[in-house]
Amino acid sequence: MKTLERCARCGKCLTVCPSFWATRLESCSPRGRVAQLKEGFLEGAALLNCLLCGACEAVCPNEVPVFTHLLATRRRYKAFYTPLLRKLLGFIRRQRPLRPSDTAGKTLLFLGCAETILYPRAAEAFLEKIKALFPFMAVKRLCCGLPLVASGEEEAFLEIAKENLALLGQAEKVLVFCASCLFTFKKIYPLYLPQEQLPIRDGFSYLLEQGLFRLKVPASELFFQVPCHLRHLGVEPWWEELKYYPGCCGQGGLFGFRYRQEARRIAIPLKKAFLTSGARFLATSCSACFFRLHTLFPKGFVTPLLAYLEPSEEWKDIG
Ligand code: SF4
Ligand code: SF4
Repeated sequence: MKTLERCARCGKCLTVCPSFWATRLESCSPRGRVAQLKEGFLEGAALLNCLLCGACEAVCPNEVPVFTHLLATRRRYKAFYTPLLRKLLGFIRRQRPLRPSDTAGKTLLFLGCAETILYPRAAEAFLEKIKALFPFMAVKRLCCGLPLVASGEEEAFLEIAKENLALLGQAEKVLVFCASCLFTFKKIYPLYLPQEQLPIRDGFSYLLEQGLFRLKVPASELFFQVPCHLRHLGVEPWWEELKYYPGCCGQGGLFGFRYRQEARRIAIPLKKAFLTSGARFLATSCSACFFRLHTLFPKGFVTPLLAYLEPSEEWKDIG
């Protein structure tokens, strides 16, 4: 309650909230949600049509932990996505290939489910290029647990999170290439599990900053849909040299499947921004954003960002 009392009703969070943008309802804005939480009755659409993007918390001048409260409140609705989650849980539980001793002292590359399941060839080609640069272990088919915690399935989330922490905590370095996984590890895990600082980094910023990789197409021809979970994590904005859209795509994990009309409305500016940008290629780095971009643009048109990276030496040779 004390943290909610910090809300000064200034409205800054309304300017960045995609669900407020889509509904124009105060009850579906961060400020409105804070007011409802204070009264103890946040429920229904006002609770569920939040995309859990984290934008409100990132901009709040009074550090009201709106996202944190909204995530915690989801447990009241845990049955909401049950049929879909049951399938997902079954899939996740069949995929536990690693032990902590396997990852100790290694550099881990965590590619995320979209890259490894939807784009296996691009993922393999990317790993092949990295092989020549430094030793690493690719972590595939491991879920960060975001779909579970976002659906209020806290017990199942904690089970997965503990296993992941045991694996990732042993590594020397973990480079993460999915924005939502990165957000989950860095922002959500500490909310649930006390832990040492994990050696986790945004994989793209690491490779670009170290000068190991460059873009293989001119920056002016590549349009990057910056995932909300990357934009609101405080990562150095390395994407600013590309063409990009600084807003939400409307998917928000499972939100885009449940609230299709709102998701379409949220995505309108993104679609316009890409079509008027003059860019030829469209890429993103978040499993949820891939789903939304696939509904907006022709199949096969959207590509993972890692498909546009080349080792710097190769780039120089080609140049
Ligand atoms: S939550 Fe923060 S940004 Fe939003 S109205 Fe309250 S004080 Fe302002
Ligand atoms: S997490 Fe995103 S969608 Fe939810 S209230 Fe905050 S800004 Fe709005």
